[in-house]
Amino acid sequence: MFVDAHCHIDLHPDPQRILESVIRARLQVIAVTTTPAAFKGSVRYTDLANGVLPALGMHPELVGTRKGDMAQFAKYLNQVTWVGEVGLDGSDRFRSSWNDQIAVFEQILEECTIAGGKVLSIHSRASATSVLDLLRKKPDAGSFVFHWFSGSLKELDLALDMDCFFSINDQMLHSKSGTTVARRVPLERILTESDAPFLKGKECETLAERIESTVKVLAELRGCSATRLCEQIYTNFCSLISRHTGST
Ligand code: MN
Repeated sequence: MFVDAHCHIDLHPDPQRILESVIRARLQVIAVTTTPAAFKGSVRYTDLANGVLPALGMHPELVGTRKGDMAQFAKYLNQVTWVGEVGLDGSDRFRSSWNDQIAVFEQILEECTIAGGKVLSIHSRASATSVLDLLRKKPDAGSFVFHWFSGSLKELDLALDMDCFFSINDQMLHSKSGTTVARRVPLERILTESDAPFLKGKECETLAERIESTVKVLAELRGCSATRLCEQIYTNFCSLISRHTGST
């Protein structure tokens, strides 16, 4: 069973078609969203019985324009086990909303703590140290999965010390820093992701084919069989879900 722990189904041109294709392929998907206001409409592109689970998000890139949507965050939180895409973005383009991003992410961590803990899919572009500082203050917010981690080696080791997970995508495996993450993270803390539709890749590939190819490359890097790695990733995914299912 292949796992896509970070996929924007609702941002595809034809989300219904993507949903049907992932169900057909039996891909296990976390369907992340980018604001609480979008969640209500996007949740229709999920299917609990078939392992396509919704995640409630507030993307740091949108905090500058959509932070008012956070008023609806608590309303939907009890409908999800996963929260994402959330986090911080310290790149120049989003620097102007930095203080708001911090306040929003703190609020999200607080709400998750009150809710008994969730699995968080976390964006940390140019901000891993700040993200880790906030996570350290809220250890009961849940389990933390760094999505497309691009921090330094030091930041990676700090995140590993805090028992964080990492979801790895195809594009990371074509970069030096991404390959370092893929080599260093213990196998029991690795997940796979597509970040579709934002990842560059061959047009013809389905999401399932893309994840399968990511697992293959990752297995070669780690010197283990793709079958064994696929099983391990599915085990990691299930254990994260079971840790936080039922908490309201
Ligand atoms: Mn994303």
